[in-house]
Amino acid sequence: MRKKVIAGNWKMNMLPNEAIDFIDKLTPLVKDTQNEVILCVPYTDLFYALLTAQNTNIKIGAQNVHWEESGAYTGEISAKMLKSIGVEYVIIGHSERRKNFFETDEIVNKKVKAALANGLKPIICVGETIEQKEAGVTKKVVTEQVKKVLDEIKEEQIENIIIAYEPIWAIGSGKTATIKDANDITKEIRDEICKIYGQKASKRVIIQYGGSVKPENCKEYLNASDIDGALVGGASLNPEIFAEIVNN
Ligand code: PEP
Repeated sequence: MRKKVIAGNWKMNMLPNEAIDFIDKLTPLVKDTQNEVILCVPYTDLFYALLTAQNTNIKIGAQNVHWEESGAYTGEISAKMLKSIGVEYVIIGHSERRKNFFETDEIVNKKVKAALANGLKPIICVGETIEQKEAGVTKKVVTEQVKKVLDEIKEEQIENIIIAYEPIWAIGSGKTATIKDANDITKEIRDEICKIYGQKASKRVIIQYGGSVKPENCKEYLNASDIDGALVGGASLNPEIFAEIVNN
């Protein structure tokens, strides 16, 4: 059976002292969970978060990575650099990066390859805009994204990736996909993985739902047959609220 993976995406929030305080508060609240708990924190918090989360069941991730290992890329951070300090996960292709920093599926794919090559586990975000949803093309859009971001990724690498289905219109908006729609799209993603990599890989791959997940609605998403967890933005900024989601 696939485990449930709850990842928090702090976005551009939390100073190091706040990160340390948060993890100290979260640790006892989630210590008995069977679920995987990940906090994806700003670069400036990574080292503090890693130290504070040592000897806990909380894993630490970054929110972005460059595809090259080193070189003249001012301001960028490579997968090798993240790995060198002990980072385990990295969010790649979040819709805010696609929209604000013009990341395409091709760029996302290069980043996924770099992450995997350096032993990081990518959390790859896919999802449709409100216009695409209203035009009834969600499944087509999302399966195309999945195909492109996984281009040249090998079957044995699939168990090291997480896909987060995040309808863009649901992120930070308070609007959510219905449980049926979210489960149908995650199933569609799983079927696409099955087509590319076969049944074994499709049964193993972790697919999360993300978009205004909170304690009041998380249980139903987490109980849906094809949804293996949640990527949580706003509700991951408070340790008690995030713990409620983890423990649901
Ligand atoms: C996100 O940033 O990935 C996200 C899902 O945000 P929120 O939970 O705030 O909608």
